[in-house]
Order: sequence, then C-alpha cells, then structure tokens
Amino acid sequence: MTSTDQQPFLSVRDLQVHFSTEDGTVKAVDGLSFDVEKGKTLGIVGESGSGKSVTNLTILGLHDRERTRINGEIMLDGKELLGASERELERLRGNKMAMIFQDALASLSPFHTVGRQISETYRKHTGASKQEARKRAIEMLTRVGIPQPDLRVDDFPHQFSGGMRQRAMIAMALVCDPQLLIADEPTTALDVTVQAQIMDLLKDLQQDFGTAIVFITHDLGVIADIADDVLVMYGGRCVERGTKREVLRAPQHPYTWGLLASMPSLTGPVDVPLMPIPGSPPSMLNPPTGCRFHPRCTFKDRVEGDACSTQQPPLELAAGRGSACHLSPAQKKAIFTDQIQPRLS
Ligand code: SF4
Repeated sequence: MTSTDQQPFLSVRDLQVHFSTEDGTVKAVDGLSFDVEKGKTLGIVGESGSGKSVTNLTILGLHDRERTRINGEIMLDGKELLGASERELERLRGNKMAMIFQDALASLSPFHTVGRQISETYRKHTGASKQEARKRAIEMLTRVGIPQPDLRVDDFPHQFSGGMRQRAMIAMALVCDPQLLIADEPTTALDVTVQAQIMDLLKDLQQDFGTAIVFITHDLGVIADIADDVLVMYGGRCVERGTKREVLRAPQHPYTWGLLASMPSLTGPVDVPLMPIPGSPPSMLNPPTGCRFHPRCTFKDRVEGDACSTQQPPLELAAGRGSACHLSPAQKKAIFTDQIQPRLS
C-alpha cells in the first residue's frame, strides 16, 4: 500500500511509550495520535520532558527495546513500524526516514571526513560505487550551501563551523532523499542568522523533494516560520492541535496561552509584561491526576468542582482542530479574547 490523498504518509495512533527506570515507570508518551502528509510540516511544540523527542525516537525505532513498552500504531507509507524488525528499521532509516538533531557533533564521527560519512550512508542504502558516492556527497554539500564543496568534502567535522556542521548533518540525513525527515530542535544551538538559513534550506528541500517533516521545538517563533500544522504536547499528551494559524492566532488551551504569553513579541505592546507559566513540568514517573497541567493552570478555578484535578480532559477534535481542557468553548474564547490576545497583538 502506498500513501494516497486518503492516507497520510505518517500516521501515529494512540501511541503510548512507557519505560522502566530504577525509580519506577516513566510514562513518557500517553495516547498520542497525529498524521503528517507528504510535503507538509508538523510542528510539535512543548517543554523538555513533554514527550516530543521520545515520540520521534520511537518512530525511528531508536528507543531502548529492552526497557521500553510501546502500544499503539505507527504507519509509514502504509507500513506498520512497531512490529518491524531492527533490520527493516535500519533499512528504512536513511532511506525512507531520517533525523537531524540539535547537536551535529553527536551525529558526525570525529574520525572520518564529512564526505566519507555522507558517501558511506549513500553506499549503504543504494549500493553505489565509491566514486559515485563521493560525487553524490559533493552534490549534497553543494545543495546545503557549503562553500567549495569539492575541497571541503575531505575536511573532518572539527574543521567545519557549527552552522556548517549542521548543514553537513542535513546533507547526510537527506543523501538518500528520505520521504520523512524528523528534525529535533535542529537550530537551537545556532545563532539567528544561521538558524534562518537552515530553516530556508529545509523549506527548499521540502519543496524539491516533497518531504514530510516533523519539526520538534520549544520555540513558537520557529513554529510560526516553518509549520503547516501544530501539535502542542504537555506531560506526554497532546493538549492542542490545529493548523498553524488556528493554534497561533486563536489558541484554546491554557498551556498554549502560557507559551505564547511568555514569548517576547516584536509587534505587540511594549509595556505588557511577559507572563511566564508558573511551576515546572510534571514528573512523568508520577504525573498529576486529571489534567496534567492542573498544578500550573491559572484558569482551573473557572471549571466547576474538582474536574481539573480528577478527570483527564478528552482531546475533542473537529476537522483536526481541538484541545483537551474542561473549560467550555465559550469560556476559552472569552478568556483568550479578554486576557491573552491583548498581550499578543
Ligand atoms: Fe486548566 Fe482545567 Fe483546562 Fe487543565 S482542564 S488546562 S487545569 S482549565
């Protein structure tokens, strides 16, 4: 089966990822569902420990198989990944799906030239000759904007600047034209100019190859730049989903309000103080009951009774849009309009 208009390229259904530690079971992801179409970018946003990186390592099959218990379904182009063997996953990684990380140094070996690392990945998946693979490595370095690629192909990673290493890692990830690219905070460690260049590069590559991208970040500014759809994660669950416009312009969940109101705005009023989210992210060893955001939520007293602390709010979606919160739609709209929006625009 191949992906069609009816079937998303990547489909995740009710994913649960729990792993055991010396202190107990960490429920890192708890019932997550989303789709990504070819040529589209899904932005997954949330604080560290919200489950976003664990989700993506699980899609790639890079989790610790011994200690991790996974339930749910992950379909990539019609193929179920959770039941796939390590060998099948290895074939798919690089070939059909690839990942770029925040830290290029951790992904590139210091002992081999950049060119060799790119060409070996290419040879492994295509069986190309050494000569063909070297040509391809130079082609990819050109594609990602490395100057003098025919000379720099023989450099070691430490001879590249941070931005160039990030580009080299992208070249390596894309050398086999993967149809799914998972980018985990790929620009966080870079200065804003290089960050903008890398984002433009990803957008160009997506346009040329129709790649589906899952972009993980804690930065809503990055989301505004690159995403088509947005999924907000908190405590291992999706708390809000929608198109970029819906989530950034008319957010419905108190956590998303907090993320937006704690971000400095270039266009908003200058005299409005930022509104940081009180408290800290929950421990996933022992997550809060009910709504996992309730210990930090400043709007829980608007909900009658103790629903926020005792009942998990369902994620109610209509045409892919919705949020998981006990506030009524009218309350959400009124709070956003009266208290949050004036801070943003
Ligand atoms: Fe806040 Fe209650 Fe909504 Fe959770 S369900 S976000 S605690 S109002």
